[in-house]
Amino acid sequence: MINLQDIWQDTLSELLKEPSINAVAYSIWIEKLSPVCIKDDVLILLAPSLNSAETVRKSFSSTINKCLSKVKPTLKNTEIITREELSFFIEAGDFVHNQELVVSSSSKKRSASPFISRYTFDNFVVGESNKLAFYAAKSVAEKPGSSDGCLNLNPLFIYGGVGLGKTHLLHSIGNYISKHFPSLKIVYMPTESLANEYFAALEKTSSDKNAYRNFIDKYQNVDVLMFDDVQFLKKKIGLQDAIFHIFNTLYQSGKQIILSSDRPPKEIETIEDRLCSRFEGGLLADIGMPNLDMRIAVIRKKMMLEKVAVSDDVVYFLAETIDTNIRELEGALLKVILYAQLINKPHPDVETAKEALRVSAPVKKEDIDSSDIINATCTYYRISKADLLSKKKTKDISDARMVAIYLVCDLLSIPLVNIGQIFGGRDHTTIIHARDKIMNQLKENKKLELEINDIRSMLNV
Ligand code: ADP
Ligand code: MG
Repeated sequence: MINLQDIWQDTLSELLKEPSINAVAYSIWIEKLSPVCIKDDVLILLAPSLNSAETVRKSFSSTINKCLSKVKPTLKNTEIITREELSFFIEAGDFVHNQELVVSSSSKKRSASPFISRYTFDNFVVGESNKLAFYAAKSVAEKPGSSDGCLNLNPLFIYGGVGLGKTHLLHSIGNYISKHFPSLKIVYMPTESLANEYFAALEKTSSDKNAYRNFIDKYQNVDVLMFDDVQFLKKKIGLQDAIFHIFNTLYQSGKQIILSSDRPPKEIETIEDRLCSRFEGGLLADIGMPNLDMRIAVIRKKMMLEKVAVSDDVVYFLAETIDTNIRELEGALLKVILYAQLINKPHPDVETAKEALRVSAPVKKEDIDSSDIINATCTYYRISKADLLSKKKTKDISDARMVAIYLVCDLLSIPLVNIGQIFGGRDHTTIIHARDKIMNQLKENKKLELEINDIRSMLNV
């Protein structure tokens, strides 16, 4: 039996030791990859964006492959995919999510279920903040499509902030129904992937007049339909229309619909009134922030599932420190465990846990952002971030500042006014001036060009 998560964590430990991967590159490109599944001798890794996938393929694939085969000699290659490609795995029934994926080494057969096996009701910690959503989800799974007494659970609309368990609940419903009602046809789709599929169908209609009809049919001929993260419907009026019709057909024939979103239907911008009222027609169940007791329970559950343990002190420290969401809490626990392994300290104490959270990179948005660029520039020119963002006009500081401004303008598409704010509240004309000055100097200043290239390679862009 091979545990995908273990393989990837071990590969990350190897990658940390690689001299060719500096700390900036590690935190921007490597740490954000997540393992999806294994296909023959290839490990499939998910990158957070297309740009990130391309960079990893171009600059890190061979090092990752080398480290991977150190950890698992039978695995020789990696394939870096994006979220869009992930949806093809889902459609092909070929998708197996990371974490718990267990590949039977003898048959090499992958599970055909599109649901993440560890996302079950049993693995879900129930507390004040999520009990309505939990019991509603369970009830829908037990009796899909039928109203529960006087309570109308169709559609079930679960909403709440990121990392609070919405996808976990949807997959739990999927796992439960697949097991107890194997004849029912269930479709689960993240709304972003649904939108891609919809636009692809529209594009195809000129050459294939059935493309749109096939798209609608795929979702109309099901017993249970789940769309995850429907806030992505905003501004997609055509898709909203299509969903409205799918919705009516399913509803009229008593099929179950389950939706999730990061906000209640009314707060999804530009959602059509008629669709909004369909979304609100059943039960709206919110998931709130977990309290301290629940955070402790989540860590304990996670330790049990991952077969790892830390002391009560560390559990308490993590539960108190990470009060944002459950995904970050789980991530923090894994960081502590990984770090403890790295420094050969199998029983981490609170000091080690603090250290682990300090040394590991903060959770970042997709790809690089302005602070990555500023940090890399400061590291390169050995000046402090405070100085770079200050009003100081000393030559080395102001030169470094101009380089950072130039790189932010060049690499990110942020309005100039906002760049001004990022650089200590400067006017946008100052930003234009700095950017153009560097652009002009680059035409003849070879040394500056090399410096900027060095910073780019620290950022791997
Ligand atoms: P969302 O879809 O709301 O952004 P997820 O369902 O992806 O959040 O949850 C993020 C992580 O937190 C997952 O690994 C999930 O298993 C875990 N998680 C969330 N809520 C709970 C809970 N109540 N009990 C156990 N694990 C949870
Ligand atoms: Mg989710």
